[in-house]
Amino acid sequence: MKALSKIYSAVAPSATLAVDAKFKQMKADGIPVVGFGAGEPDFDTPDFIKMAGIKAIANGQTKYTPAAGTVSVRKAVAYRLKEDFGLDYDYTSIVVSSGAKACLHSLFATLFDPGDEVILPAPFWVSYAEQIRMVGAVPVIVFAPAEQNFKITAQQLEASVTDKTKAFVINNPSNPTGMIYSREELAALAEVCVRHDLYIVSDEIYYRLCYDGNEFVSVASLGEDIKKHTILINGVSKSYAMTGWRCGYAACGDPHVAKVFANALSHSIGSIGTMNQAAMEAALLGPQDSVETMRRVFEERRNYMVSRINAMDGVSCLMPNGAFYVMMNIEKLIGKTLGGTLIRTASDFSMAFLEKGLVAVVSCDAFGIDNYVRWSYATSMEDIREGMDRLERFLAGE
Ligand code: PMP
Repeated sequence: MKALSKIYSAVAPSATLAVDAKFKQMKADGIPVVGFGAGEPDFDTPDFIKMAGIKAIANGQTKYTPAAGTVSVRKAVAYRLKEDFGLDYDYTSIVVSSGAKACLHSLFATLFDPGDEVILPAPFWVSYAEQIRMVGAVPVIVFAPAEQNFKITAQQLEASVTDKTKAFVINNPSNPTGMIYSREELAALAEVCVRHDLYIVSDEIYYRLCYDGNEFVSVASLGEDIKKHTILINGVSKSYAMTGWRCGYAACGDPHVAKVFANALSHSIGSIGTMNQAAMEAALLGPQDSVETMRRVFEERRNYMVSRINAMDGVSCLMPNGAFYVMMNIEKLIGKTLGGTLIRTASDFSMAFLEKGLVAVVSCDAFGIDNYVRWSYATSMEDIREGMDRLERFLAGE
């Protein structure tokens, strides 16, 4: 057989999904494992959103729509962006596709030629680096250490720009760090991008999940020039517990980007399910109180998890301000033997912890940082308590 595409053959499987698959297999085998791997709210989709999907099917909304989405769903996205950030987008500047993930992939194909450089702060969500490589572009990884709260500075960004740089990818609030960029930090980063004429790809999928009263600022709202350079990526998966509906969107400051993006979609995915678009529209236009209810629950879980981790010897974490992840530092465990395994890396730790401690966490190796594992607290308080008890016992060698 002839070789497959060199680019696609080099794509690493998603580390988050790999841990989740192993965890699910162990669970199916009857092993009492507890999972903190997947980034998926444990809440059910609110009823009024489900009903909108059901109603759409009953009303015969079961046909093709424009590739970028129905006019009404794109108008609903524009409404939400106006409500939340005061941003004005014409619906023709908005593209709806199959989750933020697919939006990012198609957007990268729209923006980049092979060899283009894309600046990506680390730690990063695992799919960015692979998606950039999947279109032949080159991720230029800029490391933001814990001392900077895992956030890159405008000076670091400036120093990474070359004549091949096309874009800067920012995830705010961040998966996996949970950190939020302030208005001033964003303005400084955006100034560099505008000055060098770089696209800003801003993934704001966790924007509704900010804690301790931290303000969320959408980078596109910082000025007309910045908005023009920005493609705002978002979706309904995290805010409305709609991961399985596969609905996300891109709001393009430059309408030409939306046009080329939609052209490409018309030859690949086409539109997403018509009934899913109806459900997304209901989520964006309907009552928003369920979002706040879920946010409060996440905040309580975060507080509990962080206090438990920081009370244990050998592990620690910073207080994340948003999203639903805690990055736990395991540096002090390197070189120790736990559960009969010599821990040399975070991957060793997560494998031993799953197999012997019966807890699934994700090693952050694939996120561009060593010696950390990621806990998702998008799971029940009961499981979080159990997970923390198991961690305590695992660290004590019990
Ligand atoms: N961006 C980030 C940072 C994410 O963590 C995720 C989901 N894990 C996505 C995008 C994808 O979301 P969606 O379900 O909308 O594809």
